[in-house]
Amino acid sequence: MPCPKTSVMENMTDVLVSGAGLAGVSAALALAHAGQRVTLVGPIDTRPTTRTVALLDGSMRFYEVLGLREKLEAQGSPLRVMRIVDDTGSLFRGSPSEFDAGEIGLEAFGWNIENGLLLDILTRAARADSRIDIRDSLTASYEFAVNCATAVVTDGTRLSSQLLVACDGAKSLARDTAGIAAQTWTYPQTAVTAILTHTLSHQDVSTEFHTREGPCTFVPLPPAQDGSFRSSLVWVMHPREARRRNMLEEQALVQEIARAAHHILGNITLERGPGFVPMEGLQARALTGPRLALAGDAAHSFPPIGAQGLNLGLRDVAHLTECVVEDRGDDPGSPKVLNAYARLRRADIASRTFGVDLLNRSLLTHILPVDLARGLGLQALRSIGPLRRLAMREGIMPGRNTPSMMRPIPG
Ligand SMILES: Cc1cc2nc3c(=O)[nH]c(=O)nc-3n(C[C@H](O)[C@H](O)[C@H](O)COP(=O)(O)OP(=O)(O)OC[C@H]3O[C@@H](n4cnc5c(N)ncnc54)[C@H](O)[C@@H]3O)c2cc1C
Repeated sequence: MPCPKTSVMENMTDVLVSGAGLAGVSAALALAHAGQRVTLVGPIDTRPTTRTVALLDGSMRFYEVLGLREKLEAQGSPLRVMRIVDDTGSLFRGSPSEFDAGEIGLEAFGWNIENGLLLDILTRAARADSRIDIRDSLTASYEFAVNCATAVVTDGTRLSSQLLVACDGAKSLARDTAGIAAQTWTYPQTAVTAILTHTLSHQDVSTEFHTREGPCTFVPLPPAQDGSFRSSLVWVMHPREARRRNMLEEQALVQEIARAAHHILGNITLERGPGFVPMEGLQARALTGPRLALAGDAAHSFPPIGAQGLNLGLRDVAHLTECVVEDRGDDPGSPKVLNAYARLRRADIASRTFGVDLLNRSLLTHILPVDLARGLGLQALRSIGPLRRLAMREGIMPGRNTPSMMRPIPG
């Protein structure tokens, strides 16, 4: 079926990005930077929340290409050291493992920034870009034809494009409308999130305590205006415990958080929170359909372990942009571009989804051989230099198929 004539005449653009979350606005910026005319559709919500994202080195390079790195560094906190502490009580637990970005020649593994601040920086850049048309409303339905995709927004406006990039999150309507199935699963876990202030410095160290219920992670944030130290908390626990903690008085909750941190941050106060996020996983069975590319959480989603979710989504965006640029044609949604995109992304998405799932489940089990394997793995990473550096590099970026926007800038 060809594109309806009215939409061709009225609202036809090169690329339509549906969903103005972190992946969607990043996709609009990257594709506009590559010369495409982009329409970005979705509600924009930059209000402060309890959530932050650690943008790893490749993601910082991606934003550097878009001219945003300085702004992100100014609002974020560098992660120079990652510390993993086995707090499972396992027989085979070892001493804490520390990984220093300097060992692989980096100033920092990445920068941690509040989601609201990051989205604000991205949407300001999108509003300033004449190639991006922003429609701050929901898409009510989608239509896919041979030569175009159409989004019908809630006021009835029809927006058409050669390529629809679905960044509409894990419950993606675009994915469902295109008939792309997704495998979904749940974990017996809830993440409790908060923004904390504390009396002892984090010293740019992100500390992840691995407990039997999941990881409890304290990630550095820039200091408050009065100079107090700040961190974000992602504390993964059994839903029953999350419900109990939700009922606690603030002071009692703060004391439990300080105990979970083994008091390394001193006295803690709650700046914002707590928030509660159920732990779920999702992987779309295909990454593309006719005139459609899925990116970000619309394509894959998993628990917040090792700061992988958005970083993986930004690699989707960077690879899609690369495929559009390399084709040099005037059709960003052609089967050739979409097939190249699906091919490039397959291994990275599968391996990150599998790796995060495996690590998370290995914490939940009490089976001795699994404990032993985890203990030996961490011991090997502590003591074998080349393995440790390989793991650090792989942790922040897959060694193969790095998108060009994320490669080190020569010189
Ligand atoms: C506690 C926690 C901590 C995390 N920490 C990290 C981290 O440190 N590093 C990291 O890389 N990742 C992290 N992640 C993962 C990361 O937050 C997500 O992967 C990322 O935010 C997903 O962004 P997205 O834009 O793909 O999806 P979403 O944030 O879900 O955005 C989807 C957007 O689509 C819009 N939308 C939905 N339906 C429609 C429609 N019909 N029409 C138009 N718009 C629509 C929504 O309004 C929303 O704006 C964390 C996740 C959690 C839960």
